[in-house]
Amino acid sequence: MKKTFLYRARLSRETEKSYLAWLETCRQLYNLALEQRVIAWKEYRKNISGYDQVVQLPSLKKAFPEFKVVGSQCLQDVVERLDRAFNAFFRRVKKGEKPGYPRFKSYLRYKSFTLKQAGWRLNGRHLYINHIGRFKLFLSCPIEGDIKTVTIIRKSTGKWFVSFSCDDVPEKKLSPTGKDIGIDVGIKAFCVDSDGNKVDNPRFLKKSLKLLKRRQRSLSRKKKGSARRHKARYLVARTHEKIANQRKDFLHKTANQYIKHYDKIFIEDLQIKNMVRNHHLAKSISDASWGMFFNLLAYKAEEAGRELVRVLPNNTSQICSGCGEKVPKSLSIRIHKCPFCGLVLDRDENAAINIIALGQRVQALTSALANVA
Ligand SMILES: [Zn+2]
Repeated sequence: MKKTFLYRARLSRETEKSYLAWLETCRQLYNLALEQRVIAWKEYRKNISGYDQVVQLPSLKKAFPEFKVVGSQCLQDVVERLDRAFNAFFRRVKKGEKPGYPRFKSYLRYKSFTLKQAGWRLNGRHLYINHIGRFKLFLSCPIEGDIKTVTIIRKSTGKWFVSFSCDDVPEKKLSPTGKDIGIDVGIKAFCVDSDGNKVDNPRFLKKSLKLLKRRQRSLSRKKKGSARRHKARYLVARTHEKIANQRKDFLHKTANQYIKHYDKIFIEDLQIKNMVRNHHLAKSISDASWGMFFNLLAYKAEEAGRELVRVLPNNTSQICSGCGEKVPKSLSIRIHKCPFCGLVLDRDENAAINIIALGQRVQALTSALANVA
């Protein structure tokens, strides 16, 4: 299976300087390649592909020797990165959405570059990048599988990270528990499962969100280009980073619990991106969390030999899990009270039971059909 390993890194001032110089060259190339596409379209109504631009790289290096310093695989990756941005843009246009056109990247928005098989060497906890220098990694867990790409990231807080994308990472199968579970994600609690367990949204997140709001307000009051604005921006970035870490930690722990105890996990196939876009910060963060939670569950399930099953949403919060009758209720009603069979249950737990029942029914039906055929 594929897996990404992310580590914090430390480096000398010297290495940092050469890295930033490389990054700047990559950024210029990105913007140059974007400009070329824009002009080709405006003036000649011609679409330039990522492939066209990769082919042009050698002649570009001849014309602008400063690009020679950066490894060719790395330059190629810059062009491919732009190509991915365009592909995503066109895909969304086709779907009838209104995506933003790929943007020119400012210094603040260009933060990483990627190397493939060449140009780097890993020796224990030391990563050597040709022409740049040495990165000391904090190897919190060992790297496994075959390393396909190495990405070096400088966060806006000034912290450094290296991420390794690996193929053929060995699976770590867990022994079966004989138990299945349905999970419903909610707004009040983070999630509720069909065994009646409730996972609350972490409280520290709320506290950090408050701090973030205060710091964002303070940033918006600072004059552009001032030292105070610079400092305020740093504080906002630090808070974002802290929230992201807290959230990741919480999601990992929650997902691990489910993977450990259940063979099959049923969830509702929510189209996260289709959910109402909301300016309410806490809400948008919880939306993003569900997507991330499901992704974590998916890859952890694969690694552990468990099964994650997505069930099509089908009125799971309205139907009574006891008798199957429809009991309409608005979002503000937190308790499911069935007038037909008398079942009284937490609203989300009722939904979770419906999710697992629906999933098991669909699976039984599918395997029955497979036997007939
Ligand atoms: Zn009922």
